[in-house]
Amino acid sequence: MKPQTTDTIKVYTNEDANPGALKEGTVAIIGYGSQGRAHALNLKDSGVDVIVGVRPGGEGDRKAKAHGLKTAPVREAAEAANVVMMLTPDMTHEALFRDEIAPALKPGDALVFAHGFSILYGRVKPSKDIDVFMVAPKGPGDLVRREYERGRGVPCLFAIHQDATGRAKERALSYTRHIGGTTAGAIETTFKEETETDLFGEQAVLCGGATELVIAGFETLVEAGYRPEIAYYECLHELKLIVDLLNEGGLAKMHEFISETAKYGDLVSGPRVVNSETKQRMKEVLTDIQNGTFARDWILENQAGKAHYQKLLEADLEHPIEKTGKELRSRMAWLQSGGNRTSE
Ligand code: NDP
Ligand code: MG
Repeated sequence: MKPQTTDTIKVYTNEDANPGALKEGTVAIIGYGSQGRAHALNLKDSGVDVIVGVRPGGEGDRKAKAHGLKTAPVREAAEAANVVMMLTPDMTHEALFRDEIAPALKPGDALVFAHGFSILYGRVKPSKDIDVFMVAPKGPGDLVRREYERGRGVPCLFAIHQDATGRAKERALSYTRHIGGTTAGAIETTFKEETETDLFGEQAVLCGGATELVIAGFETLVEAGYRPEIAYYECLHELKLIVDLLNEGGLAKMHEFISETAKYGDLVSGPRVVNSETKQRMKEVLTDIQNGTFARDWILENQAGKAHYQKLLEADLEHPIEKTGKELRSRMAWLQSGGNRTSE
């Protein structure tokens, strides 16, 4: 793939989105978790007729009802709707689609995703007579809801996989608008680009890369005889300050706020730690995503009951940095009320 520039990227705003396109029928939101809650409430407040597909009596059912939403078992919700948004965990899509949703879809309906995994890797194979598109907010559900309530929104990606009606893009933009996405701006992508970059980002940089960097730094200091509490402050706690600066204003804002010494150290030592070898490993991670190896392993892991995954997770949580962090965080009053995140 050739490197691309952003010069020609079109950002879709409210003027590009026909609000009426989503109001011709009912939207079923399947699942009432992080994204489900935000989408259902935003659509409802935008005047869209919404029904939430749930496991009757489950946590999602209880919450959605408490928030004033109609709920029904997944099959019934999908039958009542002409647009069905899949907002349960990705690994549930295959069985849920096959057993409950596919039988409920009529020609001309739309099947919508917030992440392209199930379609890209062929876990969900919709019939040709329905629209299939994606609306993926670039933020967690609670932010999607909070920004909407403030009259703003979280930027979204959208993509068309199948256009059976000739109106898939119009419907995708209408959906995006009603959750606040075109207020912030939406960019068109493909299922392939969204899924592969999303998986790569979380594995190599955001979750996998960042935590391994923190742990390696912590271990280096502790093994050199420094106390774990001090190592924790330097390698984990202060990461937030840097990430916030990067998030707010990129490299320039970070450089503006850190000391001259930190800047010089960054420039000369950073590339010694993350270097061409690291980048080579990143390319291998990307290759496994692109050729389906990662998806195949993760699906098999799920089918086998996730024992290996649980073992890895437990080992991660048993790291000494967790014990040190728990102790130190108990004295950070601002973290005790849920930290930086709000929840419902
Ligand atoms: P969650 O893990 O928060 O979804 C949990 C919800 O799914 C609960 O309501 C749960 O029901 C329901 N559920 C789970 N299994 C079933 C089932 N078999 N039948 C019916 N309902 C079920 O999901 P997310 O919001 O994290 O993710 C949803 C989609 O959005 C995914 O495709 C994800 O990749 C994508 N996405 C997520 C983002 C995020 O910020 N989390 C960001 C962008 C995209 P119950 O209450 O009964 O347990
Ligand atoms: Mg890790």
